[in-house]
Amino acid sequence: MKNYILLPVAIAISTATFAQEKMKHEDTEFYSPVPTVVTPGKTNADPPSDAIVLFDGKNLDQWVSTDHPDQNADWFVHNGIMTVNKKAGNIQTRESFTDYQLHLEWRIPKDIEGSGQARGNSGLFLASTGKGDSGYEVQILDSYKNSTYVNGQAGSVYKQYAPLVNPNRPPGQWQTYDVIWTAPRFNEDGSLKSPAYVTVLFNGILVQNHSELKGVTKYIGLPDYYAHGPEPIKLQAHGDNSKPISFRNIWVRKL
Ligand code: MG
Repeated sequence: MKNYILLPVAIAISTATFAQEKMKHEDTEFYSPVPTVVTPGKTNADPPSDAIVLFDGKNLDQWVSTDHPDQNADWFVHNGIMTVNKKAGNIQTRESFTDYQLHLEWRIPKDIEGSGQARGNSGLFLASTGKGDSGYEVQILDSYKNSTYVNGQAGSVYKQYAPLVNPNRPPGQWQTYDVIWTAPRFNEDGSLKSPAYVTVLFNGILVQNHSELKGVTKYIGLPDYYAHGPEPIKLQAHGDNSKPISFRNIWVRKL
């Protein structure tokens, strides 16, 4: 009885081995499509040749008010950096994106005060799905010796995933986020086809490793999905009383 079962298996293995032996090295070598040539920046922080520069230190031409998208972004630009204007609210990119690679630098004021979530709170919304804080937030916060709920500290997917480690620099120093975002996809009836994924390097250190998002960020309640298409990237003007944070050198590559 055993032989009846094993015989076909033995034939299959020997056939596969025979096929392997018949292969030439060129059978597993491909010549197209040829990857596009991209010129890197002088450092890994500088925009490569195929990036869309979202902020180069000069102006906010690429940004609008989130709550009034017909109005220009009204944050402060000085000495090559942009600083949150809390009165003006959140800002978001003029352009919409689906999947992308993003580089962004942020700095907590050296003389920051406050504690927990009220200490340099801002946020990077990977896709802004509407006014206010709607969308998928990677938290920005002073998490250098400042404790809060771990899925709300800097580098977290807010209220979904804590960062793998805490690589925060002290207030007053520039910090980097390098993000790979895969947007969710939806069926025609609005149901979820495939979830969003995010990978985040924080100061060059992996803090989110292809994390599967459970939906849009919710302050109260569980995250869930609503159908949407390409969306802007949003930066948060958080309503706490601590000093506003600053940004510089923001660029994105569509994938
Ligand atoms: Mg925030």
